[in-house]
Amino acid sequence: MIPYGKQTLDDDDIAAVVAVLRSDFLTQGPAVAEFESALCDITEARYAVAMSSGTAALHASLAVAGIGPGATVAVPALTFAASSNAARYVGADVHLVDIDPSTLNIDVGLVPPTADALVAVHFAGLPVDLTGLTGRPGVVVEDAAHAIGARTPDGPVGNCARSDMCCFSFHPVKTVTTGEGGAVTTNSSAYADALRQFRHHGIAKNPQDPFWKYELSMLGYNYRLTDIQAALGTSQLAKLDRFIAARAQIAERYREALGSKAGIELPPEASEGFRHGHHLFPIRVDDRDRAFDDLRSAGIGVQVHYVPTHRFAGFEHALGSTELPHTDAAADRLISLPIFPTLSAADQSYVIETLQRLL
Ligand SMILES: *Cc1c(COP(=O)(O)O)cnc(C)c1O
Repeated sequence: MIPYGKQTLDDDDIAAVVAVLRSDFLTQGPAVAEFESALCDITEARYAVAMSSGTAALHASLAVAGIGPGATVAVPALTFAASSNAARYVGADVHLVDIDPSTLNIDVGLVPPTADALVAVHFAGLPVDLTGLTGRPGVVVEDAAHAIGARTPDGPVGNCARSDMCCFSFHPVKTVTTGEGGAVTTNSSAYADALRQFRHHGIAKNPQDPFWKYELSMLGYNYRLTDIQAALGTSQLAKLDRFIAARAQIAERYREALGSKAGIELPPEASEGFRHGHHLFPIRVDDRDRAFDDLRSAGIGVQVHYVPTHRFAGFEHALGSTELPHTDAAADRLISLPIFPTLSAADQSYVIETLQRLL
């Protein structure tokens, strides 16, 4: 089966991990600090705080921003469940917002003025244009799980030019992997300190106190990344430009081959000044469920991104869940084709020919 996404690991990635296994630190140590510094270089953010997953990064961001019971968090309905679950972890209400069908991203014009926070998801790797956000909610968190290496006219995604914090995921299907892992970038030293405390049980240390002494001034979790994972992440980040270029080339080939094909709607492209991260290549077709079965039967591991959040138990009565016509229309037609740096030209040709034959 040709998967829809897959990690790219070279011998130097493996060597970086083995070097940590031979060192004194296994969990959070010098390799995590090095990874965070590499993330700051790439995103141009002042601070990066590594986390055990992208989900932990989202939870931590909303928690340290003071979002809790009684607060409302606006989230697009077309995203992975973790984007909305983060609001529920802190006891906040979720307000699901419809997408703009021309970008598949949240329609920022529909973010309710009463929302206390927004989780802006860069769907498929196309950055949300946050300049259109009027009446900015108190807290803006970017869910950039799909968008490392993408850019807006303000610079790299993760620089937090129009947000408070930006969350990344390093799950193997994402553009850069640590096995499991995530990070938050921010330009606020207060948020960075709170995020570090949150990922380490809420423990706070006063440098004047004896080494054994600490306080628990907030409820935290064990959301640490290991040095084993961080070493892999630093090695992977060094190849980010290559990964993005390879993904862009695969996307371009799909566009050329499928663009004129009736019955296929290609994914939205980045507009002037933006760079797409091409995490996914989600086309829209009419008989999606049949195309899904036929492609899987032909050995092509397509996937659906996503079952929209309001169709899950626990979210069906979420605020906004009855006002999602564009999400519903897209969700029934979306299907993601294979895209990852090591997808061979022959395998991509097979995907294209199979699609052309089936539709
Ligand atoms: C993958 C993903 C997450 C969660 O990341 P994990 O590292 O798997 O916890 C959150 N949001 C979106 C949009 C994702 O695709």
